[in-house]
Amino acid sequence: MHIAIIGAGVSGLLTALELVERGCTVTLFDQQQTGSAASWAGGGILSPMYPWRYPQEVNALARYGKQGYLKWNEKLKPVTGIDFEIHETGMLIFDEDDFEIGLDYAHQHLDPMQQAEYLQHEQIEQVNSLVSPQLQHAIYFPQLANVRNPRLLQSLKSYLQQHPNVIIHEHCPVTDLNTQQQRLVAIRTADGQQHFADQYVLATGAWSAKWSEQLEIEIPVQPVQGQMLLFKTPKDWLSTMCMNKVMYLIPRQDGHIVCGSSMRQCGFDTQTTNVTLEHIQQACFEMVPELAKFPIIKSWAGLRPSSPEGIPYIGQMPQFDNLWANFGHFRNGLCMGPASAQLLAELIMGQTPSFNAEDYSPQRLYEDAIALYK
Ligand SMILES: Cc1cc2nc3c(=O)[nH]c(=O)nc-3n(C[C@H](O)[C@H](O)[C@H](O)COP(=O)(O)OP(=O)(O)OC[C@H]3O[C@@H](n4cnc5c(N)ncnc54)[C@H](O)[C@@H]3O)c2cc1C
Repeated sequence: MHIAIIGAGVSGLLTALELVERGCTVTLFDQQQTGSAASWAGGGILSPMYPWRYPQEVNALARYGKQGYLKWNEKLKPVTGIDFEIHETGMLIFDEDDFEIGLDYAHQHLDPMQQAEYLQHEQIEQVNSLVSPQLQHAIYFPQLANVRNPRLLQSLKSYLQQHPNVIIHEHCPVTDLNTQQQRLVAIRTADGQQHFADQYVLATGAWSAKWSEQLEIEIPVQPVQGQMLLFKTPKDWLSTMCMNKVMYLIPRQDGHIVCGSSMRQCGFDTQTTNVTLEHIQQACFEMVPELAKFPIIKSWAGLRPSSPEGIPYIGQMPQFDNLWANFGHFRNGLCMGPASAQLLAELIMGQTPSFNAEDYSPQRLYEDAIALYK
């Protein structure tokens, strides 16, 4: 089976990987360089930031992120030579209002990823000696990890480029979906070329609402900008991820520390602003004051593909036999990536899905539209 995937972020690349593993031929299209949009810009925390604030549909996929990336890293590393570092640092959360609900949530879930304990400052010092003395309490999630997402994308691209059944077209925007009755017969790219496949996948992240008009169905996915800062500290300087008031620090193995993030709806603007970067910086210094000694080496902004409640659309598009969706992952597309791609590949191949497919079905686009006009 030949499958065309539009969008080569983490959603499109992992879907391609799952499909070639099942014997398919895949052609990927991206309007930019592969893996240079939200999936590159993100932090790579392999859990929703406060899991209890998210619907169970998000947690059900996110829970599988760490395990999924460990598996793919083992498989891809010998071929690509790239280790995308699943860094098991654990996470300290300092928001006192979340302690009770967070611990309750942890107790209700037997999954080791969700386990948490309450720590007083002396105990915090034992797991992370750099936390500000102002922060007297925390809840600690020892199993949480982060993935080095820019390297993950490099690895996925390299593996797929070397695969005999994959073609990647970069800087090649798809402009039109040519439909006939209930089928997509071809896609057209900006250079005027038509491309044909048996099945087509939309993995177009924050740009997905673009298809609303052509498909005659409203796709409620909007870009939400997030800004980030990168510090360079010595290797193994910061031992855990830290989070407070929706701001976080993510240590990489070599001492880089990713700090974020803001939330702003400003269309497709990816400019950073000094005011926002300073706000992020201050929030991070409040958690780890000594970070102020180290240089900021980079800042950037990315566009999250927001969707209602952050639940992605995964599955067959309403009214089309051979058009599929994997978009709308909002703040959690990296941690939901492996499970989302596995679910979509299973659905395309007619295999029994490993997750509750109905929860993510794009059919709800159609039902929402009907409800709107009732
Ligand atoms: C600041 C920030 C921090 C984040 N932190 C985390 C985190 O810690 N953990 C986590 O799990 N998630 C995080 N996220 C969210 C995560 O990055 C996204 O949910 C995820 O990357 C979405 O992946 P995607 O492949 O769907 O979208 P993208 O990576 O945006 O990929 C979509 C691709 O589609 C291409 N495309 C669009 N339209 C077309 C077209 N017409 N033709 C061809 N190509 C097209 C684009 O060029 C793009 O490459 C963060 C995001 C941001 C911005």
